[in-house]
Amino acid sequence: MTILLSTLNARYTHASLGLRYLLANMGPLKEETRIQEFVIGAKTTDVVEKLLSYEPKVIGFGVYIWNVDETTKVVAMLKRVAPHVTVVLGGPEVSFEPGEQSIVQLADYLVTGWGDVTFPKLCGEIISGPKPLMKIHAGMQPPLPEITMPYALYSDEDIAHRTLYVEASRGCPFKCEFCLSSLDKTAWPFPLDAFLAEMESLHARGARLFKFVDRTFNLNIKTSLKIMQFFLDKLEANPDDPVYAHFELVPDHLPEALKETIAKFPPGALQFEIGIQSFNPEVQALVSRRQDNAKAADNIRWLCTQSHAHLHVDLIAGLPGEDVASFARGFDQLVALKPHEIQFGILKRLRGTPIIRHTEGFGMVFDAYAPYTILATRLIDFRTMQRLVRFARYWDLVANSGRFANTIEHMLGAAPFENFMAFSDWIYTKTDATHRIALERLAKLVAEWLQVTGMGKAEANALLASDYAGRIDVPAEKQAAAVVAPMRQARHLAA
Ligand code: SF4
Repeated sequence: MTILLSTLNARYTHASLGLRYLLANMGPLKEETRIQEFVIGAKTTDVVEKLLSYEPKVIGFGVYIWNVDETTKVVAMLKRVAPHVTVVLGGPEVSFEPGEQSIVQLADYLVTGWGDVTFPKLCGEIISGPKPLMKIHAGMQPPLPEITMPYALYSDEDIAHRTLYVEASRGCPFKCEFCLSSLDKTAWPFPLDAFLAEMESLHARGARLFKFVDRTFNLNIKTSLKIMQFFLDKLEANPDDPVYAHFELVPDHLPEALKETIAKFPPGALQFEIGIQSFNPEVQALVSRRQDNAKAADNIRWLCTQSHAHLHVDLIAGLPGEDVASFARGFDQLVALKPHEIQFGILKRLRGTPIIRHTEGFGMVFDAYAPYTILATRLIDFRTMQRLVRFARYWDLVANSGRFANTIEHMLGAAPFENFMAFSDWIYTKTDATHRIALERLAKLVAEWLQVTGMGKAEANALLASDYAGRIDVPAEKQAAAVVAPMRQARHLAA
């Protein structure tokens, strides 16, 4: 094998779309290229040994915020035991500020930005000469119709056991300063008919779970409608073997035609990820996020009440100009809209994003190490930020998990942020942990908290028993309707 494409995925179920794009576009080098994926947490020596077992001349690594530390160790070890192997890096994490990164110093070459054209070209030069002199190669961005789509490279095992990432477009026209897509300036579509033909053949091969990585799926409504109709047709033709599709939406753009189509989807077939990030207009202006809050709230309310879509809505804590009180107001506003999950994220400084311009003015202190999480701002000190981090973790365990669907409503009461923060502070003092809390123990702690806040023991236990957490011997998929939805969504359906 001459060329290996490798990355460390965050989980086994995440099949790397980026590597498959590279392989699909290797041209004459495709036959001598193969993919070798790993999962973070793998032993560095095992990774290096496996890579070298193919006796590659070139190894290309996809470097992301979640794997940069471990990939740095892999590259460092590779360069010690097999210095003759040429290492090429690519991916969002190394596409910006390369001069500051030790992994870039260790590697032979770096392709920044899109790799579909530049990576194969660079490999050809490395293998056949003349050897490229420049270390850093800016990725050429071809028109999307010139890029070969990679979906045929999903193996039968990928289709059976992993999330299939797909994209009908790349890029985003918006400019939210905390987001890497803000650098794109626009969105580019893949040829729709060709894309749908690829989806058709994935479906024919047994694929049922499609995760769209398009940053703004509802930008071009005509396209969105056609894609949704594709899935509706599949659902209609095979109601006993349903498909499940995940899309990212901008919240303030949901025209009637799209609503009508969304409303046709049955339960357990559709998930939307919707970024609100902040409901505070001053914060939105500071980070250049254009969002009509009233429209966004109306649309989320409509989706929650008039559709069966599973809603996952994102908020970010730690943005410039946001203090705890303003974040709490946004959080409470969102809870009142009743999405199934609120993804409470803590701001991260992604390399290359313009949010850095606020560093001094807003006293923004980021962790020096990946994932560069915000540690403090002028308005939120380190201690308080840590409380927010724990809140986010417990929120995920108790609210987003769908395991406490009835109990959580009671816990939140009329002041969701304040009440859940009190729970978060309490459970942390009891456990000194935010991870590795077994479900049974968590359920007992939640029951205890209900009593601390004034509920009788019998009532607390009855409330818990009405939830999945109180019925842990019954698998969620058995409680839910016949859906292909991932486990968490199935639990929300079963609640
Ligand atoms: S946050 Fe969403 S809307 Fe804003 S730039 Fe990023 S992808 Fe686009």
